[in-house]
Amino acid sequence: MKRCAVRCERFALSAQSSTLTARTEAQSRTGFRLTICDAQGHAGVGEAAPFPGYSRETAEQCHASLNALEAPLQTLLCAEEVSSFSQWQHVVPQLRLGEHAASAAFAVETAVIDLCARRGGVSAHRWINPGARTTRIAVNATLDLRASPASLRSQMAAYAQRGFDVFKLKVGHPDWSWRDERARLELARDVLGDDATLRLDANGVLSPRDLPHRIEIWRRAGIAFVEEPGPVSQWAPIRDAGISVAADESLACAAHRSRIVDERLADVLVIKPAMLHGITGAWALAQRAAALDMRVVVTHLFDGPVALAACRALAFALPQPPLACGLDTHEGLAGWPPGCGVALGEGPVLAPNESLGLGCCGEPHS
Ligand SMILES: [Mg+2]
Repeated sequence: MKRCAVRCERFALSAQSSTLTARTEAQSRTGFRLTICDAQGHAGVGEAAPFPGYSRETAEQCHASLNALEAPLQTLLCAEEVSSFSQWQHVVPQLRLGEHAASAAFAVETAVIDLCARRGGVSAHRWINPGARTTRIAVNATLDLRASPASLRSQMAAYAQRGFDVFKLKVGHPDWSWRDERARLELARDVLGDDATLRLDANGVLSPRDLPHRIEIWRRAGIAFVEEPGPVSQWAPIRDAGISVAADESLACAAHRSRIVDERLADVLVIKPAMLHGITGAWALAQRAAALDMRVVVTHLFDGPVALAACRALAFALPQPPLACGLDTHEGLAGWPPGCGVALGEGPVLAPNESLGLGCCGEPHS
């Protein structure tokens, strides 16, 4: 590729919901949109937006990484005619993405994949895996158990009416006891019926003191798995009791990630490309999980529209279909500035994007 141009725009995003995770009270967020244009007029777009309280890097560290990666990225793209994902996997270690902010690395890879897929005349998921076969991916609905019973009941009924049958319930808020959550879980089963899949997400905050009570409640409620119930050291007794555990936040740390996979300390891996330094890292983790008979869920970090499209592209590219994913649209998307025109379908079931690249049709590609 001849010399390409790299542009980075910074955005102040509007306030995010404060109820999204048990440990995040994000009120403001900064995002970056990265555009790479080649000499032939093709362009690829990526997005980075560290999630305060969740991401391991700050917005300033992300920005610094984006700046630091610009020159080596240009050098790499000038030297290599990247025509396939396998070729990209071969050369991307030159960028040492793992040493940079994870969200910045994700934005760089997203932009490269969008650009290369457009040049190749295919959609992003087909560029990542030309043999991709998945034609539908279910997405889960996410509910915060702190809502009042009446509100929770009407939210669940509305989702069920739309056809959702996988529900992720946020648990573990410090103001709530296991007794409060027991009542809400019983309500969920009552409203959704026995066929609905119930998952719990504790974002790593549950106290070991209450675990015996919680395990009994979870067993009675027939939950599919609990995401990140607490420190990894607490997962064994939960799994020994017959409750599956999904690793999420722990996967952001390379050392923890290796240990969780190598020692098979979880049943399910929650794959967030924005936490795993991009698509290549997420792909490798999903492949490793498949080899070990671990299931995966692909999800976003309440990312922008382009980043969400990239997460969906990864999910549809995987040779082994993921479980129902956390890839539905979300309220935070409204805070991202317009410009990319990504058409994002909504749940309960997604179809793959078959437009060029990530499906962006706005100004950066015109
Ligand atoms: Mg989670």
